[in-house]
Amino acid sequence: RVRVRSALRVSYLMQMLSQRAQIDGLTGLYNRAHFDHRWAEEVAAVHRHKRPLTIAMLDLDHFKSVNDTFGHPAGDAVIQGLARIIRRECRQTDVACRYGGEEVVLIMPETVPADAAAVCERIRIALADVVWPKHPERSVTCSIGVVGTEGTATAEPLAWLELADKNLYRAKREGRNRVVTS
Ligand code: GH3
Ligand code: MG
Ligand code: MG
Repeated sequence: RVRVRSALRVSYLMQMLSQRAQIDGLTGLYNRAHFDHRWAEEVAAVHRHKRPLTIAMLDLDHFKSVNDTFGHPAGDAVIQGLARIIRRECRQTDVACRYGGEEVVLIMPETVPADAAAVCERIRIALADVVWPKHPERSVTCSIGVVGTEGTATAEPLAWLELADKNLYRAKREGRNRVVTS
């Protein structure tokens, strides 16, 4: 009995550790390591089965100035607030990952670009509407680049990501606080 109990405990701990290794500590979203392998898998599946898939890259606008003006804890609270909004607006099958500091990527399987853009628009508006307890006078916005397929994709994972990035930077150039889809 003692041996079985100890084996169960080890198995539980192993499972917990491997789960934590995939999760970002600040936001509870998936981390970059999880994104890298998950994205490759999703693209491979879409190439095989000719299914829809869309990816969105989100970056907070002028976030450095939020940190500089209100302090890093206030900035952290904004990143956490963004994560909450994303969880609320997404489907359970969507995969939200913290890509870098104030950047989030959203993998939306079985979702055509137009529907994904609508989800991103909801996220964009919800974030812009937040009144932040630490700085109620300063709202925070985000820019989002969206790329997807209705089921005819042939692009490789990295090339696809670059397209999303390009749309994100177009959103920035065109004035921020917007969603750009191609
Ligand atoms: P842009 O609209 O062009 O995106 O401007 P920006 O200021 O958001 O862009 P920039 O890349 O210059 O700044 C990103 C900032 O994000 C810089 C860094 O201090 C901040 N940052 C990154 N990770 C974290 C974090 O975990 N917590 C906090 N508070 N800030 C972070
Ligand atoms: Mg950035
Ligand atoms: Mg930014």
